[in-house]
Amino acid sequence: MTTCIVTTDPAVDRLLAIARTLGGPVVAVVAGARAVADAVAAGAPDRVVWLGEPGDAPASAFASAAADAVAAAGPAVVLAADRPADRVLAGAAAARLDAPALGGVTAVVPEGGSVLVTRTVLGGVATEDVRATGPVVLVTDGGDVPAPGAPAPVEEAPAVPAAVRVVETRPAATAGVDLRGARRVVSVGRGLKAREDVALVEALADALGAATACTRPLAEGVGFFPKDRYVGVSGRTVTPDLYLALGISGQVQHMVGARGSRTVVAVNTDAEAPIVAEADYAVVGDLYQVVPALTEALR
Ligand SMILES: Cc1cc2nc3c(=O)[nH]c(=O)nc-3n(C[C@H](O)[C@H](O)[C@H](O)COP(=O)(O)OP(=O)(O)OC[C@H]3O[C@@H](n4cnc5c(N)ncnc54)[C@H](O)[C@@H]3O)c2cc1C
Repeated sequence: MTTCIVTTDPAVDRLLAIARTLGGPVVAVVAGARAVADAVAAGAPDRVVWLGEPGDAPASAFASAAADAVAAAGPAVVLAADRPADRVLAGAAAARLDAPALGGVTAVVPEGGSVLVTRTVLGGVATEDVRATGPVVLVTDGGDVPAPGAPAPVEEAPAVPAAVRVVETRPAATAGVDLRGARRVVSVGRGLKAREDVALVEALADALGAATACTRPLAEGVGFFPKDRYVGVSGRTVTPDLYLALGISGQVQHMVGARGSRTVVAVNTDAEAPIVAEADYAVVGDLYQVVPALTEALR
């Protein structure tokens, strides 16, 4: 039996897909609005247990109630999406079940009475396989919103949230671009020297019909890009047809988020940069010359 924990974002089709491969019933425990419960129900788990309208309580205020609901379902495996509130609830469920919680999960395979879990460790430098023989809580990429199918029944189990409430909501700085779905990505690293040079990159992305992305130092360090735009182990994972990497050295923490790209093209002044060996095509040259020339040619 597998339980999926869901909070305010119904993007859990990957969790449901994993749950189905594990055999046995799939129960979703939803600590979020009714619309979230309905969207999850459309993905056809066997049951949806909905903890009631949260009102002004944050999803994390339902940690204890969600842990109770998960424990009542008696799962061998608990799955949660790798998002802040979902991780809080996953931790609470792990504590209630006295089960280990594993993050960075990339694959789960049933093996007799146990599951073999593959996850990234050491900041994406390595993967490890872990065999879980008892209940285990796994945090992984949730996937997309489930496609509507034959909906599961939604069972109401109204819960009393902990005594905290949301007093203010401020949107995070975001460019509103979903990198995960982009078919072409123009990504830039520390080879870009100044904020005003971002325009060069945007012009190329425009000409290519691509989304822009970056390495972590450009988002977390100098702030040339919003924080939701960097690719890598602690950022986004992208799977475009084309990943054009400008002035990016290709450290593993970055590449782990770009390796699902069909074709990687690198532009780098250093022929010895790791990305040059990893890319399908590499231009050894100065991005300040290559990018305007490429943009011009594309136009
Ligand atoms: C726990 C942990 C997690 C991390 N997570 C992430 C993550 O999720 N994403 C991420 O990106 N990083 C992450 N990092 C950081 C990562 O290790 C690298 O430091 C980072 O990716 C390097 O970014 P960069 O390639 O832009 O910079 P650099 O490594 O400095 O490379 C710049 C490249 O630009 C080239 N260059 C310079 N000038 C030009 C020019 N004019 N034209 C063309 N090329 C030029 C240089 O030859 C060089 O190869 C993480 C690190 C740790 C420790």
